[in-house]
Amino acid sequence: MNMFNLFPTHSGAIARRRILVAGGAGFLGAHLCELLLHAGNSVICADNFSTGLKCNIRHLRDFDTFRVLRHDVVNPLDLEVDEIYNLACPASPRHYQADSTNTSVFGSLNLLELAARNGARILQASTPEIYGDPNVHPRVENYSGNVNSFGPRACYDEGKRRAEMLFFDFQKKHGVDVKIARIFNTYGPGMRPDDGRVVSNFIIRALRGNDITIYGDGSQTRSFCFVDDLIEGLVRLMAAGPSFTGPVNLGNPDEFTVRELAEHVVNLTGSRSKIVCQPLPVDDPRQRRPDISLAMRELHWRPEVPLMKGLEQTIRYFDDLFASETTAFLESA
Ligand code: NAD
Ligand code: UDP
Repeated sequence: MNMFNLFPTHSGAIARRRILVAGGAGFLGAHLCELLLHAGNSVICADNFSTGLKCNIRHLRDFDTFRVLRHDVVNPLDLEVDEIYNLACPASPRHYQADSTNTSVFGSLNLLELAARNGARILQASTPEIYGDPNVHPRVENYSGNVNSFGPRACYDEGKRRAEMLFFDFQKKHGVDVKIARIFNTYGPGMRPDDGRVVSNFIIRALRGNDITIYGDGSQTRSFCFVDDLIEGLVRLMAAGPSFTGPVNLGNPDEFTVRELAEHVVNLTGSRSKIVCQPLPVDDPRQRRPDISLAMRELHWRPEVPLMKGLEQTIRYFDDLFASETTAFLESA
């Protein structure tokens, strides 16, 4: 699929938009900045570098249409922009449990006010965590959720729920052109080695020959989406007409148990790692698979990269990273 078709003007030339990517130095944000720049847009990456890395965006400095702002979105900012992607928020449980509610709530508020002042379109990176641990499977967008408001994941789940509410509030009260993507577990090159999420953890442990630690008995399921597929979904959503706001599920509906994932990683890396079990974290959702009918119908989008292909690319990425010495990489990050 030609991604540049997603940025047409009425004359057929490529549109050059001024786009703010909040959280642009993170895993998804850096891939998004790169795609938007290659399509001829002018991109500002605003990031406080809490989980983002300078090395994720270093190669983008060659674009004279790329700017980086060290900025915490809990503080207001003033810029002239046509589109805003709000990706600013740690995504891994390890990192978001340290602090994510203020970022989700006040960050969304500040960016929505910026969108209102500019008449800009704004997209929120939301999450299936807003469904909590539901009894409806697969997840459909109109399910209102089963969230534990005082569990360890509540800071993230409730922050993202509040952010969605603010987006629709700004749409109703101020006519802001909003889009909500609910992003299911996404993986790929560019993840931090210390990210803590399951795909990076398993690959790193397998490459180092360490035990692979499954939490619980490994029968819980997730559906893993390769990063290129997900980024295309985000750009398609941003390009959709104002009448389509979402929320829309973006993810790969192929569902795997965590144990199956571990076995695939062991096979693909040829590792001698053993698979061992550790206690399941509190409120860890038992089952997760998106229903993507809405995205298929409205965005003409569906993921194309099967898990094995995506894992191969991600394993190559981490292999190369270790060959260039992870410690040096993180120190210079
Ligand atoms: P990430 O942690 O790699 O990236 C988040 C980025 O936001 C980092 O660069 C971080 O430094 C920045 N950031 C955090 N707090 C900030 C603040 N207060 N001000 C400015 N910048 C801040 O995570 P990711 O995987 O790239 O996720 C990006 C977004 O997508 C997040 O909003 C996350 O909740 C959402 N999401 C991701 C997934 C996934 O599977 N990757 C799933 C669901 C939702
Ligand atoms: N998980 C695991 N071992 C790890 C990391 C995670 O078994 O080293 C499990 C985790 O308990 C969850 C699933 O893998 O059931 C996905 O975890 P992740 O943190 O990647 O994302 P989330 O729980 O937010 O979907």
